[in-house]
Amino acid sequence: MKSVAVIGAGITGLSAAFSLQRQGVPVTVYEASGRVGGVIRSLRQDGYLAEFGPNTILETSPKITKLVRDAGLESRRLDPDPRAAARYVVRYRRPIPMPSAPLGFLTTELFTVRAKLAVLREPFVPPRRDGQEESVADFVIRRLGQEFLEHAIDALVAGVYAGDPHKLSVPQAFPKLGQLEARYGSLIKGQILGARERKRRGEVAKDRAPKFSFDEGLQVLPDTLRARLGDAVRLNTSVTKLCRTAEGWTVAGRADGRELRTEHRGVVYAGTAFKLAELELCVEAEKDPWIAGSTGHGALTAEPNRGEPAPGSGGTTAPRGKRLDLSAFSEIRYPPVASVVLGFRREDVAHPCAGFGMLIPKVEGFKILGTIFSSSLFPNRAPAGHLTLTSYIGGERYPELASLPPDQLCALTTEDLRVLLGVRGQPTFRHCVFYPRAIPQYNLGYGRYRQRMAELETAAPGLFLAGHYRDGISLSDSIVSGCHVAERVAEFLKAAEDPDKTHPE
Ligand SMILES: Cc1cc2nc3c(=O)[nH]c(=O)nc-3n(C[C@H](O)[C@H](O)[C@H](O)COP(=O)(O)OP(=O)(O)OC[C@H]3O[C@@H](n4cnc5c(N)ncnc54)[C@H](O)[C@@H]3O)c2cc1C
Repeated sequence: MKSVAVIGAGITGLSAAFSLQRQGVPVTVYEASGRVGGVIRSLRQDGYLAEFGPNTILETSPKITKLVRDAGLESRRLDPDPRAAARYVVRYRRPIPMPSAPLGFLTTELFTVRAKLAVLREPFVPPRRDGQEESVADFVIRRLGQEFLEHAIDALVAGVYAGDPHKLSVPQAFPKLGQLEARYGSLIKGQILGARERKRRGEVAKDRAPKFSFDEGLQVLPDTLRARLGDAVRLNTSVTKLCRTAEGWTVAGRADGRELRTEHRGVVYAGTAFKLAELELCVEAEKDPWIAGSTGHGALTAEPNRGEPAPGSGGTTAPRGKRLDLSAFSEIRYPPVASVVLGFRREDVAHPCAGFGMLIPKVEGFKILGTIFSSSLFPNRAPAGHLTLTSYIGGERYPELASLPPDQLCALTTEDLRVLLGVRGQPTFRHCVFYPRAIPQYNLGYGRYRQRMAELETAAPGLFLAGHYRDGISLSDSIVSGCHVAERVAEFLKAAEDPDKTHPE
């Protein structure tokens, strides 16, 4: 039986492939790079365990719990130290704990009396009902005031998206915020009433969902899924063309420098938006769409393809059929981010670092976007008597800094940590990873890309688009997206086997 092709061995692709395999559907995973995990990257070195991409998984869905269980990883799961719950936000050039209860909000130094009064007035601010898409900054200024934007939300947005609140869209990037306003007329009322409703339904809110990692870092998850998938995973294999034929899908590209061409029942694209934009996609082609001389069928959204060599294809014949235009996805912005992991001797850091980490608003004037207190969260991240601090540089705030040489990144980070945490001397461990295109920005107008993705799936039945560029940028969103797309593929295959059931006429 022909397999389903899964393109991309990041966590989305691996979750999708593993879920399909468990349902008895054969899969082949194509990964352009020489490793699995995508942006997940853990490194064990010199007694430190460094995590450069995501640091934790939020257990927001039973699908995540099931994936970990099915992969046989329950015993390797690592929950964070409960004493590391505090989160800090920098103000007056020092980390201040974020209040965790309403009383704490009234007494915190994080906000002036004026900002606190603006927040207390929020339930009386009329909701916006004109249906216009609003940026995160405009939404927050309207409901909570300028100071709350500059000293809280700006830092949060940098921590989650490495993004700019003036560009990010509320309905696309933080849909729950817009829904709270629409449903309850106020964020504060919505928090209180929504919590009661969730309690009645037995649900856990995202901000309260448990987070976890694994004994040897998050890389354990993709590595284990890869081992379970065995020979189905093909590394160093870049897919460049997809064509829907009468029999299914032809997938073409380069595998270890050689030409690849395989047949599949369906295709899951679990890569990145910028690589999606580079794919050649055609539908309604003859049996072998790349044999010169087969009949073309004219254009759907782009020009008819007449079997000429495709630009950049090295002379290979371009697929024949209706070409679907994917170029718009290249507009999706992925700012660069550098992750800087530094280890210090405990006595060389004045701050207790007892907590999850600190977020830094732009107005405070530091280069780093924020720091995770990695070894407070998971003590096995540093050797005894040492601690690990993971900081991020770049994003939409300072994209030009992310590509600095490692020495300069470490120096900038150490200097900021000296002021903020009282770090002395030089780090005992240092390692940087540069992500040239890190996280997609769900900016104003992003809805048109999601709309286009849905249209493509309709125009090319058997092609499924999943992952961080469509279903949410977090690791947990990506896992859920992978598991969910596996369900959609299974339904598609079932309907294809029994077409009478789907078309009773
Ligand atoms: C620095 C950083 C920090 C982060 N921190 C957090 C965090 O703390 N918490 C959190 O929840 N999330 C975090 N995230 C986000 C989260 O890690 C990602 O959204 C998630 O891992 C994305 O997984 P994915 O599989 O969708 O994509 P990716 O990991 O990008 O994987 C896509 C894979 O597809 C491959 N590919 C693409 N095109 C092709 C092709 N044509 N042929 C073959 N292969 C192809 C790529 O090589 C890649 O391996 C962070 C991300 C970054 C970059």
